[in-house]
Amino acid sequence: MAAVLIIEDEQRIRELVARVLADGGHDVVALATAMEGLQAVVKGGPDVVILDMGLPDLDGAELLKMIRAVSDVPVIVATARNEDRDIIRTLDAGADDYLVKPFSVDQLVARVRAVLRRVGSEGRSMPIVVGGLEIDAAAREAMLDGQLLELSPKEFDLLTFLAERAGEVVTKRELLAEVWRQPYGGTEKTVDVHLSWLRRKMGETAADSRYLQTVFGVGVKLVDPT
Ligand code: CA
Repeated sequence: MAAVLIIEDEQRIRELVARVLADGGHDVVALATAMEGLQAVVKGGPDVVILDMGLPDLDGAELLKMIRAVSDVPVIVATARNEDRDIIRTLDAGADDYLVKPFSVDQLVARVRAVLRRVGSEGRSMPIVVGGLEIDAAAREAMLDGQLLELSPKEFDLLTFLAERAGEVVTKRELLAEVWRQPYGGTEKTVDVHLSWLRRKMGETAADSRYLQTVFGVGVKLVDPT
C-alpha cells in the first residue's frame, strides 16, 4: 500500500492505471498536467510517481529534472519513444525505471511493486527475500542459505531483477532490455551464458533447477523452492 501519483494526459490510460493501482490497495492521485504533478510532488506525499513523458504543458524529461531537484521519490517513466538513446536519456535524467507504451497493466503493477520494494516504506532499502535467498540491493550483496554469493555485477543485477519479479516469467528479450539496457541489440545467448554462471554459483543446473526455472520457449522465472 503506497501513495502513487500518476501524471498522464491521456484520460483513458490515466483512468485505467489509476483504477488498477487503486484496486491493488494503493492510494492514487491521478493528474493530467506537468505543473499539477510538480505541485503534488512539492506538497509531498507520493511514494512513487508514474510519469508520462509526452505531456501537453512540459516535456516529461524537463519535469523529471524538476522533480529530481526537489525530491528523490522513485519515478517510473512511461514513454512512447522506444529508442535506446531516449531510454538512456530518461534514466540519466533520474528515472528509476521505465515502461514503453503500450505496456500491459501487469507490467506496470510489477514495476510499481519492484520500485516500492527497492526503496521500502520509509525510503530505506529493504532486502528482497525469496526462500533461502536474500538480496540487499543497496549493499549489492546476495546470500543463499546464509552464504554470501560471489557474483559479478551483471549476475547480481540479473538475480535481483528476477527476484523482484519472483514467480513471474521474464523473457530473455526483457532481460536484455532491462538488465543489459539493450532493448533491441544484444543476443539471447548473452542471457543464457549469465544464467548458466549464476546457476552454477547458486549450486544448481538448468536440468536440476531450484530457484532459476527455465520456461521453455518463453523465458525464465525465479521461484521459491522451499
Ligand atoms: Ca501523453
